Amino acid sequence: MEKIFDNTEVAFALKNNTELNKAYYLFKLISSNALVKIGTSLTSFAISTNLPVKGLIKSTVFDHFCGGVTEEDCLKVVDKMYTKGVSSVLDYSVEGKETQEQFDHALQMTLKTIEFAKERTAIPFAVFKPTGVGRFFLFEKKGENLPFTDAEQQEWNRIVERFDIICRTAYEKGVLLLIDAEESWMQDAADDLVLDMMRRYNKEKCIVFNTAQTYRWDRFDFVKNTHAVGLREGFHVGFKVVRGAYMEKERARAEEKGYPSPICATKAQTDATFNKTVTYMVENLENKIALFAGTHNEDSSYMLMELMTKNNIPHTDKRIWFGQLYGMSDNISYNLSNHNYNVAKYLPFGPVYDVVPYLIRRANENTSVAGQTNRELDLLDKELKRRRSK
Ligand SMILES: Cc1cc2nc3c(=O)[nH]c(=O)nc-3n(C[C@H](O)[C@H](O)[C@H](O)COP(=O)(O)OP(=O)(O)OC[C@H]3O[C@@H](n4cnc5c(N)ncnc54)[C@H](O)[C@@H]3O)c2cc1C
Repeated sequence: MEKIFDNTEVAFALKNNTELNKAYYLFKLISSNALVKIGTSLTSFAISTNLPVKGLIKSTVFDHFCGGVTEEDCLKVVDKMYTKGVSSVLDYSVEGKETQEQFDHALQMTLKTIEFAKERTAIPFAVFKPTGVGRFFLFEKKGENLPFTDAEQQEWNRIVERFDIICRTAYEKGVLLLIDAEESWMQDAADDLVLDMMRRYNKEKCIVFNTAQTYRWDRFDFVKNTHAVGLREGFHVGFKVVRGAYMEKERARAEEKGYPSPICATKAQTDATFNKTVTYMVENLENKIALFAGTHNEDSSYMLMELMTKNNIPHTDKRIWFGQLYGMSDNISYNLSNHNYNVAKYLPFGPVYDVVPYLIRRANENTSVAGQTNRELDLLDKELKRRRSK
């Protein structure tokens, strides 16, 4: 497969020199594990004591990784990315909320993004997080088959209703819908709900996508089994396939509670599960499957491109999407779209303080320890040098 991801001219065509320099210094800053740790603690402290740090967060990490505070703010970025064929997934990234009002607000925001998506080809997907619309504790309890109190049962019914309203609206408006995956100890209940939504709304085509985190060794079988149910009952099955974002937490909990870790023992095993799952889905594409590959891994992206070629699937086939996060791996996103593949970037938005947990995850993922930053820095540096030498 031709190596296309090194083309920094294509990757950064939308960034002027000032923006490139700003991105370079931001990645330099968060490449330091120590600085990220200090920054994370200071940010939490500043927010809890009402210190005025909003402006600082906004002009640095927020502007780099988010589209804005409201969905309207995001439109400038959406339109700009789409000039190069890269689509957007508006992601209301407010996390850790606990009250019914907050869950209803998240529901309304998600419905708004569906409405937005319906009006714009540049936004083919909507997305939501299960624990954005209901308490984590209830998902956990449901997954463990523990009995609910009457009040909990009512609260759970409301969660089911919120899921259904979102999925039904997406179905009625013809907007594809991704549902994120989270910690394994709440995921069983979410998986059951999503399966029901697929049953209801994926009869004609794939609208609702679950997420398979392939750092979990059981997820290849999970995808295959879900597909078998779909074939048996006559509905389409969609999966966003990712590696998974909660590895440390998963391992620590398994150890603390003394059960076998659900996470693959090594990175190589996670990679193998990812590859196996994507391969299975591509090879069964004709059998009511749709795939959204959410990854910043170049090898995985090349592998999927190769699989498509091998199976005579056109780059533009609407059943296969590549996905990255806004602010990361532009070399993958823009070079893929330059070769006519379907690409969408998650574009997070929300009030600055409310998206801090999301931003902290991104900062942690980009430290030198996690390893992503060096590539970003090398690419930015390469492009800055290329422009200077012109
Ligand atoms: C569009 C998009 C949507 C996403 N949605 C979700 C979601 O809904 N839920 C979610 O959990 N995550 C989600 N993620 C994050 C994703 O799961 C990964 O954390 C992130 O993309 C890094 O993985 P990678 O494939 O890009 O790159 P890589 O750098 O190749 O992989 C890093 C990942 O490999 C795994 N890993 C690393 N070391 C080991 C080890 N020693 N043993 C076993 N496994 C290891 C971990 O999962 C780690 O995150 C999403 C990512 C994208 C791009």
